[in-house]
Amino acid sequence: MGKYRYILLDMDETILDFSLAERTALRATLEEFGIEYTPDVHKHYSEVNLSLWKRLEKGEITRDELKRLRFEIAFGRDDGTYMNARWMDNLAECGFYLPGAREFLDKLAATDIRVFIITNGLSYTQNGRIRASGLIDCVEKIYISEEMGAVKPDPLFADIVIGEIGDPDRSRYLVAGDSLSSDILLAENAGLDSCLFVAEDKDLPAGYRDHDITYIAHGYDELLSVILS
Ligand SMILES: [Mg+2]
Repeated sequence: MGKYRYILLDMDETILDFSLAERTALRATLEEFGIEYTPDVHKHYSEVNLSLWKRLEKGEITRDELKRLRFEIAFGRDDGTYMNARWMDNLAECGFYLPGAREFLDKLAATDIRVFIITNGLSYTQNGRIRASGLIDCVEKIYISEEMGAVKPDPLFADIVIGEIGDPDRSRYLVAGDSLSSDILLAENAGLDSCLFVAEDKDLPAGYRDHDITYIAHGYDELLSVILS
Protein backbone atom coordinates (compact mmCIF):
# COMPACT_ATOMS: atom_id res chain seq x y z
CA MET A 1 0.00 0.00 0.00
CA GLY A 2 1.18 3.54 -0.77
CA LYS A 3 1.30 6.54 1.47
CA TYR A 4 -2.40 7.41 1.30
CA ARG A 5 -5.29 5.33 2.59
CA TYR A 6 -8.10 7.89 2.37
CA ILE A 7 -8.86 10.21 -0.51
CA LEU A 8 -11.09 13.20 0.10
CA LEU A 9 -12.18 14.00 -3.42
CA ASP A 10 -13.97 17.12 -4.57
CA MET A 11 -17.04 16.56 -6.76
CA ASP A 12 -17.73 19.52 -9.06
CA GLU A 13 -15.25 20.08 -11.90
CA THR A 14 -13.16 17.27 -10.42
CA ILE A 15 -15.53 14.33 -11.07
CA LEU A 16 -18.86 15.73 -12.24
CA ASP A 17 -19.23 18.35 -14.96
CA PHE A 18 -20.85 21.23 -13.15
CA SER A 19 -20.53 23.61 -16.10
CA LEU A 20 -22.59 21.32 -18.32
CA ALA A 21 -25.11 20.67 -15.56
CA GLU A 22 -25.48 24.37 -14.87
CA ARG A 23 -25.83 25.24 -18.55
CA THR A 24 -28.47 22.55 -19.08
CA ALA A 25 -30.46 23.47 -15.97
CA LEU A 26 -30.20 27.23 -16.42
CA ARG A 27 -31.45 27.00 -19.99
CA ALA A 28 -34.45 24.91 -18.85
CA THR A 29 -35.23 27.29 -15.97
CA LEU A 30 -34.97 30.49 -17.99
CA GLU A 31 -37.24 29.00 -20.67
CA GLU A 32 -39.89 28.39 -17.99
CA PHE A 33 -39.73 32.06 -16.98
CA GLY A 34 -39.72 33.40 -20.53
CA ILE A 35 -36.12 34.62 -20.41
CA GLU A 36 -33.92 33.90 -23.40
CA TYR A 37 -30.81 31.86 -22.62
CA THR A 38 -27.62 33.21 -24.16
CA PRO A 39 -23.95 32.77 -23.22
CA ASP A 40 -23.90 36.40 -22.00
CA VAL A 41 -26.93 35.84 -19.77
CA HIS A 42 -25.25 32.75 -18.38
CA LYS A 43 -22.00 34.60 -17.76
CA HIS A 44 -23.84 37.32 -15.86
CA TYR A 45 -25.67 34.77 -13.70
CA SER A 46 -22.41 32.89 -12.99
CA GLU A 47 -20.65 36.06 -11.85
CA VAL A 48 -23.49 36.93 -9.48
CA ASN A 49 -23.66 33.35 -8.17
CA LEU A 50 -19.90 33.07 -7.66
CA SER A 51 -19.71 36.35 -5.76
CA LEU A 52 -22.53 35.14 -3.49
CA TRP A 53 -20.77 31.79 -2.90
CA LYS A 54 -17.61 33.66 -1.91
CA ARG A 55 -19.70 35.73 0.52
CA LEU A 56 -21.17 32.49 1.90
CA GLU A 57 -17.68 30.98 2.29
CA LYS A 58 -16.74 34.09 4.30
CA GLY A 59 -19.87 33.77 6.42
CA GLU A 60 -21.37 37.08 5.23
CA ILE A 61 -24.69 35.64 4.02
CA THR A 62 -26.75 32.52 4.73
CA ARG A 63 -27.54 29.71 2.32
CA ASP A 64 -31.18 30.81 2.09
CA GLU A 65 -30.08 34.31 1.17
CA LEU A 66 -27.77 32.90 -1.49
CA LYS A 67 -30.56 30.83 -3.05
CA ARG A 68 -32.91 33.81 -3.31
CA LEU A 69 -30.48 36.60 -4.08
CA ARG A 70 -28.73 34.95 -7.03
CA PHE A 71 -31.90 35.13 -9.15
CA GLU A 72 -33.14 38.44 -7.78
CA ILE A 73 -29.79 40.14 -8.43
CA ALA A 74 -29.01 38.43 -11.74
CA PHE A 75 -32.44 38.85 -13.35
CA GLY A 76 -34.00 41.73 -11.42
CA ARG A 77 -36.91 39.62 -10.23
CA ASP A 78 -38.84 39.60 -6.98
CA ASP A 79 -39.66 35.85 -7.06
CA GLY A 80 -36.12 34.64 -6.41
CA THR A 81 -37.20 31.95 -3.98
CA TYR A 82 -39.60 30.34 -6.48
CA MET A 83 -37.22 30.69 -9.42
CA ASN A 84 -34.49 29.12 -7.33
CA ALA A 85 -36.77 26.19 -6.48
CA ARG A 86 -37.38 25.52 -10.19
CA TRP A 87 -33.67 25.87 -10.89
CA MET A 88 -32.83 23.38 -8.17
CA ASP A 89 -35.35 20.85 -9.52
CA ASN A 90 -33.80 21.15 -12.97
CA LEU A 91 -30.22 21.03 -11.70
CA ALA A 92 -30.91 18.01 -9.49
CA GLU A 93 -31.51 15.95 -12.64
CA CYS A 94 -28.13 16.81 -14.20
CA GLY A 95 -25.45 14.33 -13.10
CA PHE A 96 -22.90 14.37 -15.93
CA TYR A 97 -19.37 12.97 -15.51
CA LEU A 98 -16.36 14.80 -16.83
CA PRO A 99 -14.70 12.83 -19.64
CA GLY A 100 -12.64 10.03 -18.09
CA ALA A 101 -13.95 10.54 -14.53
CA ARG A 102 -16.00 7.36 -14.33
CA GLU A 103 -13.09 5.24 -15.60
CA PHE A 104 -10.82 6.91 -13.02
CA LEU A 105 -13.26 6.03 -10.22
CA ASP A 106 -13.50 2.44 -11.46
CA LYS A 107 -9.69 2.13 -11.35
CA LEU A 108 -9.64 3.64 -7.88
CA ALA A 109 -12.35 1.22 -6.73
CA ALA A 110 -10.07 -1.68 -7.72
CA THR A 111 -7.50 -0.54 -5.10
CA ASP A 112 -7.92 -0.72 -1.32
CA ILE A 113 -7.87 3.05 -0.97
CA ARG A 114 -11.04 4.41 0.60
CA VAL A 115 -12.63 7.22 -1.38
CA PHE A 116 -14.88 9.94 0.04
CA ILE A 117 -16.48 12.84 -1.81
CA ILE A 118 -16.29 16.24 -0.13
CA THR A 119 -18.47 18.88 -1.75
CA ASN A 120 -19.63 22.38 -1.01
CA GLY A 121 -23.16 22.73 -2.19
CA LEU A 122 -26.80 22.51 -1.46
CA SER A 123 -28.03 19.19 -0.20
CA TYR A 124 -31.06 18.89 -2.47
CA THR A 125 -29.27 19.53 -5.76
CA GLN A 126 -26.09 17.67 -4.88
CA ASN A 127 -28.01 14.58 -3.73
CA GLY A 128 -30.11 14.67 -6.91
CA ARG A 129 -27.01 14.87 -9.11
CA ILE A 130 -25.32 12.13 -7.10
CA ARG A 131 -28.36 9.88 -7.69
CA ALA A 132 -28.63 10.83 -11.37
CA SER A 133 -24.95 10.07 -11.97
CA GLY A 134 -24.73 6.91 -9.86
CA LEU A 135 -21.74 8.44 -8.06
CA ILE A 136 -22.96 7.09 -4.73
CA ASP A 137 -22.11 3.56 -5.94
CA CYS A 138 -18.50 4.54 -6.75
CA VAL A 139 -17.38 5.91 -3.36
CA GLU A 140 -17.71 5.07 0.31
CA LYS A 141 -19.53 8.19 1.44
CA ILE A 142 -20.41 11.66 0.21
CA TYR A 143 -20.07 14.67 2.49
CA ILE A 144 -22.13 17.75 1.53
CA SER A 145 -21.40 21.03 3.28
CA GLU A 146 -25.05 21.93 3.87
CA GLU A 147 -25.52 18.70 5.85
CA MET A 148 -22.36 19.17 7.90
CA GLY A 149 -22.50 22.67 9.29
CA ALA A 150 -19.12 23.41 7.75
CA VAL A 151 -18.08 24.71 4.33
CA LYS A 152 -14.70 24.01 2.70
CA PRO A 153 -12.09 25.50 3.46
CA ASP A 154 -13.20 25.49 7.11
CA PRO A 155 -10.93 22.85 8.69
CA LEU A 156 -13.96 21.69 10.69
CA PHE A 157 -15.14 20.06 7.43
CA ALA A 158 -12.03 17.84 7.40
CA ASP A 159 -12.17 17.29 11.15
CA ILE A 160 -15.70 15.88 10.87
CA VAL A 161 -14.74 13.54 8.01
CA ILE A 162 -11.55 12.37 9.73
CA GLY A 163 -13.43 11.91 13.00
CA GLU A 164 -15.97 9.67 11.27
CA ILE A 165 -13.32 7.65 9.47
CA GLY A 166 -11.62 7.27 12.83
CA ASP A 167 -7.95 7.27 11.79
CA PRO A 168 -6.27 10.31 13.39
CA ASP A 169 -3.03 9.94 11.36
CA ARG A 170 -3.41 12.87 8.96
CA SER A 171 -0.44 11.78 6.83
CA ARG A 172 -2.67 9.02 5.43
CA TYR A 173 -5.18 11.45 3.93
CA LEU A 174 -5.04 13.26 0.59
CA VAL A 175 -7.40 16.05 -0.47
CA ALA A 176 -7.83 16.26 -4.26
CA GLY A 177 -9.78 18.91 -6.11
CA ASP A 178 -9.77 21.69 -8.67
CA SER A 179 -10.32 24.68 -6.38
CA LEU A 180 -7.59 26.66 -4.65
CA SER A 181 -10.00 28.55 -2.39
CA SER A 182 -11.94 25.52 -1.19
CA ASP A 183 -10.03 22.23 -1.71
CA ILE A 184 -6.39 23.28 -1.48
CA LEU A 185 -7.04 25.77 1.30
CA LEU A 186 -9.01 23.12 3.21
CA ALA A 187 -5.95 20.85 3.08
CA GLU A 188 -3.68 23.69 4.19
CA ASN A 189 -6.03 24.61 7.05
CA ALA A 190 -6.44 21.01 8.19
CA GLY A 191 -2.79 20.01 7.86
CA LEU A 192 -3.38 17.50 5.06
CA ASP A 193 -1.54 16.78 1.82
CA SER A 194 -3.25 18.08 -1.29
CA CYS A 195 -3.41 17.45 -5.00
CA LEU A 196 -4.62 20.20 -7.31
CA PHE A 197 -6.58 18.59 -10.13
CA VAL A 198 -6.30 20.33 -13.49
CA ALA A 199 -8.37 18.84 -16.29
CA GLU A 200 -6.28 18.05 -19.35
CA ASP A 201 -7.99 20.78 -21.38
CA LYS A 202 -7.61 23.45 -18.67
CA ASP A 203 -4.80 25.75 -17.53
CA LEU A 204 -3.46 26.03 -14.01
CA PRO A 205 -5.65 28.42 -11.97
CA ALA A 206 -4.30 31.92 -11.36
CA GLY A 207 -2.64 32.29 -7.98
CA TYR A 208 -1.67 28.65 -7.52
CA ARG A 209 1.85 29.69 -6.51
CA ASP A 210 0.41 31.43 -3.45
CA HIS A 211 -0.68 28.07 -2.05
CA ASP A 212 1.09 25.21 -0.35
CA ILE A 213 0.14 22.46 -2.82
CA THR A 214 1.65 19.00 -2.34
CA TYR A 215 1.02 17.77 -5.91
CA ILE A 216 -0.43 19.04 -9.16
CA ALA A 217 -2.10 16.48 -11.44
CA HIS A 218 -3.01 17.19 -15.05
CA GLY A 219 -5.76 14.72 -15.88
CA TYR A 220 -6.89 11.50 -14.23
CA ASP A 221 -3.85 9.33 -15.05
CA GLU A 222 -1.60 11.71 -13.14
CA LEU A 223 -4.12 11.99 -10.31
CA LEU A 224 -4.23 8.21 -9.99
CA SER A 225 -0.40 8.07 -9.89
CA VAL A 226 -0.34 10.64 -7.08
CA ILE A 227 -3.00 8.78 -5.11
CA LEU A 228 -1.12 5.50 -5.43
CA SER A 229 2.29 7.08 -4.57
MG1 LIG B 1 -14.59 21.65 -7.59
